Amino acid sequence: MTAPSQEIDGPDGADGEPKKVTVIGAGISGLLAAYELERLGHRVEVIEGSPDIGGRIHTHRFPGGSGPGPFAELGAMRIPAAHRLTMRYIDELGLQDQVREFRTLFSDDAAYLPSSTGYLRVRDARDTLVKEFAAGLPNHDFRDNTLMFCAWLDASIRAIAPRQFYDGLHGEISMELLNLVDRIDLTPYRSGSSGNQVDLHAFFADQPQVRSFCPPRLDRFLDDVLDETSSSIVRLRDGMDVLPRRLASRIRGKISTGQEVVGIDVRDDTVVLRIRQGVRILTKVCDYVVCTLPFTVLRRMQLSGFDEDKLDIVRRTKYWPATKVAFHCREPFWEKDGISGGASFTGGHVRQTYYPPAEGDPANGAVLLASYSIGPDADALGHLGEAERNAVIIRELSAMHPELRRPGMILEVAGRAWGSHRWSWGAATVRWDQEAALREAERQEAARPQRGLFFAGEHCSSKPAWIEGAIESAIEAAHEIEWYEPRESRVFAASRPSRSNGSA
Ligand SMILES: Cc1cc2nc3c(=O)[nH]c(=O)nc-3n(C[C@H](O)[C@H](O)[C@H](O)COP(=O)(O)OP(=O)(O)OC[C@H]3O[C@@H](n4cnc5c(N)ncnc54)[C@H](O)[C@@H]3O)c2cc1C
Repeated sequence: MTAPSQEIDGPDGADGEPKKVTVIGAGISGLLAAYELERLGHRVEVIEGSPDIGGRIHTHRFPGGSGPGPFAELGAMRIPAAHRLTMRYIDELGLQDQVREFRTLFSDDAAYLPSSTGYLRVRDARDTLVKEFAAGLPNHDFRDNTLMFCAWLDASIRAIAPRQFYDGLHGEISMELLNLVDRIDLTPYRSGSSGNQVDLHAFFADQPQVRSFCPPRLDRFLDDVLDETSSSIVRLRDGMDVLPRRLASRIRGKISTGQEVVGIDVRDDTVVLRIRQGVRILTKVCDYVVCTLPFTVLRRMQLSGFDEDKLDIVRRTKYWPATKVAFHCREPFWEKDGISGGASFTGGHVRQTYYPPAEGDPANGAVLLASYSIGPDADALGHLGEAERNAVIIRELSAMHPELRRPGMILEVAGRAWGSHRWSWGAATVRWDQEAALREAERQEAARPQRGLFFAGEHCSSKPAWIEGAIESAIEAAHEIEWYEPRESRVFAASRPSRSNGSA
C-alpha cells in the first residue's frame, strides 16, 4: 500500500545563478556527473535507490578473523591502462598508490584451457590448439607461426565472447585473413615462457592494416579481446569500490541512499520525480535531472513527457547478463598447482575462473573468482537457486581443480547475477552486432536529453560496458547542463555554443 503523493521540494534557481541538479543513481557515472557539476559551480544532490553507492562497481568483502578478510570483485575488476579518463580520475582523486597490475586471462602459463582431449596448461596448449584449428581449414600450406597466431586468436575469442556469439565468430577467421597474416613475420610477437603464445596486443598495435581484413563482426569484437588480454591492465589494491567511495567523499551535495525513483515526468520547465520512501511515494520537482539509470531499469518505470524516439531507444537498448560467483577458500590452493595469478578459461557454464592475488593475512584465506560468465551461460547460472548454482560450479570447476572437493576448502560463497539484479537488470549494453554508424546513432539517441532531463551511464557512451564509458558520458552530461538554457531564456542565447542535440 502506498500513501498519496506529497510534494517535498520545488523548482529553484534564476538565470545566471548556479543550477540545482538532481542526479539519479550513485554509480560511477552519477557520482562523476555530480563531481563535475560542482566543479562547474552548480549545486547537486544524488538520489540512490539501493542501500549503497557504487552500482556496478561492487566489491564484496568476506569476514576475516584477524584484520580485514579477502574481497571479491562482483562487478568491475580491472582497468585497461589505455582508459585515459579512468586513469586520470584515479590520479586526481589521489588513488595512484592503489594502482596494481591486473593479471588477466592466459597471462599465467600454468593456467588452464579446455581442448577436445581435456584441460591443458596454457604453456602446453600450442600444438593441440594448432591441430584443432587447422582441422577446420580446407587444404592449406600456411606457416606454422600463422596457424599458431590464428589458433590463439580463436582461443581468446572463445574465452571472452559469450558462447553463442563465439559460435557466430568462429568461422570469421577467413582464408583472406590467414593469407595476409602468413606474409607477416610473427617471430617478434611470440610470447609466453617458451614462446608458445602470441602477443595479440603487440601484433595489432604494430599491424593495424590487418584489422581491415577482419570481417566487421570480428573487427568490432577485437577491441574487447585486446582490452581484456592486454598486459597493461590495472586494478585497485584495496578493491575497486575505493574509486566511487573516494569520489563520493569529494562531493559536497547530499548523497541519499534507499530512495528508489519509480516515475519520471518531463514538463516544460521542470522534471518531476516520484520517489519511493518506505511505503510512501513522494513527488520531487526538479529544475534539472541527470538520469544514470540503466535503460533496463528505466523501461520498468512510469515515464511521461518523453518523445517517441526516446522511449523507443529506452525500450530496445540491448543488455547482456553477467554472473559472478566467488569462493572464499581456506587457502590459495592453486598456488600449489603452480598458478600464481591470472585466469583460466574453464568453459562450460563457469566460463572464466580468476585467481586474485592473496595479499592479506594467510589466516584469513583467499578468494577464487570461481566463475565469471556472460550471455546465456550467465542467465543459466543466474536462474538457479543459490545452492544449485554453487553445486553446478563446483562440479564443473573441480574437473580442473579437484582441491575444491576437500572438506572445509570452501568457507563461504558470494555471487551476483546481474541479469536479474533489481538495480540494473543486466550487466552492460552491448553493441557488438552493430555497424559503427548505427552504434554511434544509438549512442547519441541514448544520451539525447528531454528538456531538463539529461542522461549519462555506460549505455550513453562510446565505450559501453566499461567504467571509462560511464565516466565519458558523465563529463558530457555535466557540460550539456552547463550550456543548457531553459526555454524562455533561449531567445537571448542564440549565439551560445550548443553541444546538445536535445529535443527541448
Ligand atoms: C560483472 C561486471 C563486470 C564488469 N567488469 C568491468 C571491468 O572489469 N572494468 C570496467 O571498466 N568495467 C567493467 N564493468 C562495467 C562497469 O562496471 C560499468 O560500465 C559501470 O560501473 C557503469 O556505471 P553507471 O554509473 O553507468 O551505472 P551503475 O553503476 O549501474 O549506476 C546506476 C545506479 O543507479 C542505481 N539505481 C538503479 N535503479 C534505481 C532507481 N530506481 N532509483 C534510484 N537509483 C537507482 C543503481 O543502484 C546504481 O547505483 C563490469 C560490469 C559488470 C556488471
